Amino acid sequence: RKIGYAIVGLGSYATRQIMPNFVGCEHSRIVALVSGTPAKLEQYGAQYGVPKTHWYNYGNFDRIRDNPDIDAVYIILPNSMHAEYTVRAAQAGKHVMCEKPMAISVAECETMIAACRKAGKKLMIGYRSRFEQYNRLAIELARGGHVGPTQIITAEHGFYARPNQWRLDRPLSGGGSLMDIGIYSLNATRYLTGEEPVEVVASESTDKSDPRFATVEDRINFLLRFPSGVAATCVSSYSSAHNSYRVIGTQGYIDMEPATPYEGHSMRIRKDGQVTQRTLPPAAKTQWAGQLDHLSEAILNGTDVIVPGEEGLADMRVIEAIYRSAREGRAVKVQA
Ligand code: NAD
Repeated sequence: RKIGYAIVGLGSYATRQIMPNFVGCEHSRIVALVSGTPAKLEQYGAQYGVPKTHWYNYGNFDRIRDNPDIDAVYIILPNSMHAEYTVRAAQAGKHVMCEKPMAISVAECETMIAACRKAGKKLMIGYRSRFEQYNRLAIELARGGHVGPTQIITAEHGFYARPNQWRLDRPLSGGGSLMDIGIYSLNATRYLTGEEPVEVVASESTDKSDPRFATVEDRINFLLRFPSGVAATCVSSYSSAHNSYRVIGTQGYIDMEPATPYEGHSMRIRKDGQVTQRTLPPAAKTQWAGQLDHLSEAILNGTDVIVPGEEGLADMRVIEAIYRSAREGRAVKVQA
């Protein structure tokens, strides 16, 4: 059986990445669409063979409760809308896949987890890199001490954010580059170590005369200290283009550049002075098909997902500590 998904929000990521990747899924299919724009429902309804009876808008969204074809919803809306739609979906008796960042505060994340738990439904966050083979290998190598025990991780993520979009509007985004792209640096340090950071030190650099940054931050750099002693140095930016991380151990390093792109991952390892490029054969499934089928299989088999709401919450706890550290100019402990 294939799990039926309602796609909530027919924007760029939904229509260019998520929806086209259902074709590579074994256990997932699109069965319903949710949008405030009737023309998009017409267009994508025709393209994906979703009949009018399975089209919804934000007003009548709760009626998904009465549609047994919908097992799960995939929320691909601006960040500040994730919590509301996750709670409404759980209350309608549906499992939830929610995009990153999970929400815009720790309190919202906790509410979402509680709502899904109460409804007895799964909640998974769209951390696609966990289903991408180079990142999976990097995790295995880093945690396995391939270049010696990890000492330092550097992680850099940024892109030039064009003006006039919800990402730069705090009520919708919840914050600037950290919420959107710096979260990849943060999440990578957590999955590469398998640990939770205990303390952060952060510093923000935002040109307030740039109209893009009236309400959100541009660059925010942060240091993370992990219980094992690993130190991470991370970059988050809306003004510079980079996508990489490096795991540095006692014998060398694992370099990923680009580390978390849609495609074209590249891994280079330096060990005991010897440099090698690691090239993997094409994956059987794209990272998106892997992500979608992971939730579907968890629903079908009653198993746990590897990136549940608790993962989104853990990132959000660190994000709040990073903002606080930058604001107050001091090291901040991460609340456990
Ligand atoms: P987008 O602007 O292209 O799409 C957002 C959609 O939400 C649009 O269709 C818009 O019409 C709809 N919407 C509904 N109510 C809205 C409102 N009040 N204001 C603005 N838009 C509203 O954005 P996107 O790039 O598709 O991002 C959507 C989500 O997906 C975000 O949470 C983002 O972080 C996430 N995302 C994840 C990845 C990834 O690689 N995992 C990549 C891109 C985006």
